[in-house]
Amino acid sequence: MDLELLAKRLAAAKEPAYRLGQIWRWAADGAAGYDAMTNVPAPLRTALSADVAFSTLTVERESQSRDATVKTLFRTTDGRPVEAVLMRYRDGRRSICVSSQSGCPLTCTFCATGQMQFGRNLTASEILDQALHFRRLGPVNHCVFMGMGEPMLNLDAVLAAARWLPDLGITHRRTTISTVGWMPGLTRFVDEVEEPIRLALSLHAADPKLRSRLMPLNDRYPLVDVIAECRRYVELRARKVFVEYVLLAGVNDSQEQAAQLARLIDPKAFKVNLIPYNPTGAFDGSSRATIAAFKAVLDRAHVPATVRLTPGRDIDAACGQLAARAAA
Ligand code: SAH
Repeated sequence: MDLELLAKRLAAAKEPAYRLGQIWRWAADGAAGYDAMTNVPAPLRTALSADVAFSTLTVERESQSRDATVKTLFRTTDGRPVEAVLMRYRDGRRSICVSSQSGCPLTCTFCATGQMQFGRNLTASEILDQALHFRRLGPVNHCVFMGMGEPMLNLDAVLAAARWLPDLGITHRRTTISTVGWMPGLTRFVDEVEEPIRLALSLHAADPKLRSRLMPLNDRYPLVDVIAECRRYVELRARKVFVEYVLLAGVNDSQEQAAQLARLIDPKAFKVNLIPYNPTGAFDGSSRATIAAFKAVLDRAHVPATVRLTPGRDIDAACGQLAARAAA
């Protein structure tokens, strides 16, 4: 829903000032369309249906996995593919994973999105409409900006969307923005964002040479600088930064590499999320035993670490698998 366009149309129709908030309340609560808004005059509902698209995205395909994860492929009005995921956990967490771009201009070698063609930045409405779509399926309470794209390359739209999320039931403390370490956006994020939105850093290798091989952007923004920026976030906001580390068999999963990671990051500032690799073709994932051994090294060094679950793998909805394959 393009809220700016909606505001303009309501003003042009000389609607009372409260109307916008009234309509937004319905949308944020998961209404299926304007017709459901019983306290909005019927002629206005009809006019809006014709004039302001209820969503800026259309659903092209939706699949549901065995573990109740839903992956949706949307299209923008100019035909760009966008994927997003809803994860439903037994403990009541209902977490959405949204995209900030159609495709991604970065070329991380292990990520399916990095291998598809980059389209463009999404607008704030297009990001928000992914969340609203899942809100229509039921309550939602967590959001991660870990879908397609690099959020820090599209920070204004990402923040605008994130700031609407509390109305959908997703507080800032339960909102996480993940980055490869795109410094211009990261610096702005640290300086400007006063809301308690969480930050995650895709690290994947403590050794700079290896990190550059996996993530070419590392040559442009060296890891030491990125880590320093994350530490500034921790100091300013008094919140830890999540480190994402995807485990690739024989590439970055040795005990020595775990020790290197433990030396690099301050356990008081970071919390590690180990990610089992979801196959996208290029690499093999580490075995469960190797992941456990890697975690044990971090445990001994008192670096807090957890292993991420991989919901939705059977429908290619897990981390790094969003590539809008059949449709691109
Ligand atoms: N561009 C941002 C936002 C995307 S987050 C970023 O990279 O942080 C998506 C997360 O999934 C990143 O940590 C990414 O490195 C990870 N990932 C990518 N491909 C993966 C795969 N095949 N298996 C598991 N995790 C993957």
